[in-house]
Amino acid sequence: MNQSVPAEGTAAARASQRCAEPECGAQYRLDERLYVCPRCGGLLDVEIEREGLSRADELRAVWRARLSSFDARDHSGVWRYRELLPFDRDAPVVTLAEGNTPLYDAPRSARYCRLDALKLKHQGCNPTGSFKDTGMTTAVTQGLVLGVRTVVCASTGNTAASLAAYAARASLLCAILVPRGQVSHAKLAQSLDYGARVLELEGNFDDAMRAVRELAEDEAIYLVNSINPFRIEGQKTVAFELTEQLAWGVPDHVVVPGGNLGNSSALGKGFKELLDLGLIDRLPRLSVVQAEGAAPFARMFARGDRATPDEGLAPDEVLEDSFRPVERPQTLATAIKIGAPVSWKKALRAVRWTGGRVQSVSEQEIADAKAIIGRDGIGCEPASATTVAGIKRLVAGGFIRPDESVVAVLTGHVLKDADYVINYHRETLHTRDRSPDKTKEERRIKGTFANSPVRVKATRGAILEQLSRAGHEEFSAGGLDCVDEA
Ligand SMILES: [Zn+2]
Repeated sequence: MNQSVPAEGTAAARASQRCAEPECGAQYRLDERLYVCPRCGGLLDVEIEREGLSRADELRAVWRARLSSFDARDHSGVWRYRELLPFDRDAPVVTLAEGNTPLYDAPRSARYCRLDALKLKHQGCNPTGSFKDTGMTTAVTQGLVLGVRTVVCASTGNTAASLAAYAARASLLCAILVPRGQVSHAKLAQSLDYGARVLELEGNFDDAMRAVRELAEDEAIYLVNSINPFRIEGQKTVAFELTEQLAWGVPDHVVVPGGNLGNSSALGKGFKELLDLGLIDRLPRLSVVQAEGAAPFARMFARGDRATPDEGLAPDEVLEDSFRPVERPQTLATAIKIGAPVSWKKALRAVRWTGGRVQSVSEQEIADAKAIIGRDGIGCEPASATTVAGIKRLVAGGFIRPDESVVAVLTGHVLKDADYVINYHRETLHTRDRSPDKTKEERRIKGTFANSPVRVKATRGAILEQLSRAGHEEFSAGGLDCVDEA
């Protein structure tokens, strides 16, 4: 199964792995099974040499033509861009037709953020309902290229569900490590159904991540967390697809949720590659939004902002110097409940390349933003809604101007965490902050835009009365003018 000897002229022939630490920069072959640089412990990037690649207009034409092709790889929004992926032409591609996700206009969310317009790129419309699929297709394919038998990951739920599905497609053994009691039912259900061995660990995601990294030292086991550079390669194609959907135009801002920070890293890499290849002529500002209770990256940025010149350090040095993991991360947006994100250095690089910001938002802001996105007819999981909450703040703070073009990346489907949605609308949603000084009432998330079910007698009259009342409420609210007061 080892197909690591590349054919001439393919992307794999021109690619290698390189340490992302600027002062190291060590280079390794693609078929070396590495997660971090053996020399310095730094994260690895896959690097594809530009020499031998087609011109920008030729690449655009090839990618466009594939939209009407019958080749299974062309039905994937990832493999359609395979000139920029580090694989041979005959690589054993494992695909579930991922990618090709919609880019929606979201007028109500735009008004809520006080923007003229806002677009939502919904990565929750992937086969397993989250953005993870775009990276899992390439990571599991690389697993086959390397001839591994078992794939593992630590997960807050979405990575687990995605890996379980792709491992099943590839007939690989799959083990997933999840923090016990902290994964939504839907995500757990997916992993079980796809046949993964689910190991529930005591502790939080960061503990699971530590355990899985130790496990991966075993030769037979392949680790596919976002520390794996082949995950990032698939995920970077979101930047390609998004830009293509805008007729190769570039938005002023792209905003993503921040958990383990692999996604921000991947988007940054994707946009940078497009710029280097002349496919776009500028970079969008890439901003990352974290939940207040799990915001080590945002806190680091805030410290950088406060740094004064007389500390004798450049702002960049202040940043790198002041990254501190959060010991006990807390947020109901479980997909980003991560205190020690492994990809923070790559994400920092991406935010710097593009001149973006890092923002944190409260649990209440996340919940309200999620409900507003819903009123645009678009369902997402709580972590995704950090974007709209963050954009609202960035507009209020003047970093985003109302007339600028903005795209928020939604990372997970609304059905990934139905309990959260129901509790918000029934006004029974509480944060899990167990500190003794907070009463249950103080931990309650207000249902600002709650839409709770109504009990009605099963008669025509009673139902009509309810409908007329609902119509009146919607009319007098001007179709959600309440968003303006929020
Ligand atoms: Zn290194």
